[in-house]
Amino acid sequence: MSSPAQTYVLSIDQGTTSTRAVVFDHAGQTVASAQKEHTQHFPRAGWVEHDVVEIWANTREVITEALCRGELNSSQITSLGITNQRETTVIWDGATGEPIHRAIVWQDTRTQSLCDELATGNGADEPDTERFKERTGLPLATYFSGPKIRWILDHVDGAHQRAAAGELLFGTIDTWLVWNLTGGVSGGVHVTDVTNASRTLLMNIDTLDWNKDVCDAMGVPVEVLPRIASSSEVYAECSQESGLPGVPIAGILGDQHAATVGQACFGPGQGKNTYGTGNFMLINTGHEPVRNDKGLLTTLAYQFGDQKPVYALEGSIAVTGSLIQWLRDNLGIISEAAESETRAARVQDHGGAYVVPAFSGLFAPHWRSEARGVFVGLTSFVNADHICRASLESVAFQSAEVVEAMNASAPEDLTELKVDGGMVVNDLLMQFQADILGVDVVRPEVIETTALGAAYAAGLATGYWKSTAELVENWTEGQRWSPRMDKSERAQRLSEWKKAVTRAFDWVE
Ligand code: ADP
Repeated sequence: MSSPAQTYVLSIDQGTTSTRAVVFDHAGQTVASAQKEHTQHFPRAGWVEHDVVEIWANTREVITEALCRGELNSSQITSLGITNQRETTVIWDGATGEPIHRAIVWQDTRTQSLCDELATGNGADEPDTERFKERTGLPLATYFSGPKIRWILDHVDGAHQRAAAGELLFGTIDTWLVWNLTGGVSGGVHVTDVTNASRTLLMNIDTLDWNKDVCDAMGVPVEVLPRIASSSEVYAECSQESGLPGVPIAGILGDQHAATVGQACFGPGQGKNTYGTGNFMLINTGHEPVRNDKGLLTTLAYQFGDQKPVYALEGSIAVTGSLIQWLRDNLGIISEAAESETRAARVQDHGGAYVVPAFSGLFAPHWRSEARGVFVGLTSFVNADHICRASLESVAFQSAEVVEAMNASAPEDLTELKVDGGMVVNDLLMQFQADILGVDVVRPEVIETTALGAAYAAGLATGYWKSTAELVENWTEGQRWSPRMDKSERAQRLSEWKKAVTRAFDWVE
């Protein structure tokens, strides 16, 4: 509830499972919010698609609903920030606004043979998945947008010609939403920010421009690509039809980068782990990109206006929260996500079972796209409660492997882990995460850190917040979990997990 004189920043958080609109006040507190899930399309094994027309409709709906719930009118919104599921790829016709294909989602593995082909395309005898790593910071993997763009162009009739003629526009979801919010076919702005661009496999990580050589090798015409801007500046104003007439769009950040900003990780060495559809740990590495050989990605943390960019190392895990959705939708052993905790709490431990959810291969630190999921350690004692527990534990084990890679890459070991995302309401998971890491796990009071980060980027650009120091002050601790497991048990559980992971590789070898 608000008085008319008060002003706010609105954030749209377009995630993998749902779209949220969240209104924040100057203290970084949530004033009102609305959320809507969208359909997940699984046309074949390994394929995941979203209908971006549905996503755009949901976006307008949640904006209206959030304003209505807060009894706000759009003139009280000083700026709009956008954060989005990254890498998910959409191509649309600039004249009609119609997508030429459903969006290919980041988890989708259909571009595996294309990636294999590209890995041997530089004349090397052996496949080289690190072919573009020096320039882009990323290994060649199905995860990133570049191969997905190429796949759509290859599979939609006439698309290559239309792309070369400048009729088609590519975007990650931020770009799609900004284009629509700013008028679409009648003058929509075609733009992305450095964090989203850093996930395409097409951007040069040092110059922050599209890398022409890589685009050529990938078969992506530069004509389809948006302008790359910073993460915090006024890009354009929303159109009359958008529901937010005249509101400046002033922040764009990929969701994981937004959470890094929302958690106020502004200094080198500071980082966070987000537990959503997948898990993503980002650690701020300062103004220089740091290359990594431990399975971590070199990425942008954020760039505010014309200030120097800030880089990060990232450990990406494809399947964490989506494993809980799978228990619900495919196995039917829970009816809602929270039940994973109540079921897991009914048993004393995992009963010897391990679940390795390599549904989209395994990302960090392994980058083995051919790996497939396995259940191991099953006996007739194991029941659905143990499976729930082992599934939650798999989230913590995968994160522990990423922390191990981070510790091996950084001058000092992590001393505590800041967490956020939809899964951090799960107390059993958070306690197990502290147990298996041997360090405290800390959740901020405001757990909508992704939406908050995009709001911060927008509010910094428009002077709603004056400096990052103000944002650091807004961060307050909500809850803390300390390790209770003894060292030898931790070591044993980790070694059993690693053995289970090898089975996910053996299966396909
Ligand atoms: P995203 O931004 O990727 O769409 P969210 O941060 O909204 O994801 O988190 C949603 C995920 O969290 C879903 O995959 C869901 O299964 C999982 N989740 C939500 N609540 C719980 C819970 N209580 N226990 C375990 N997992 C949960």
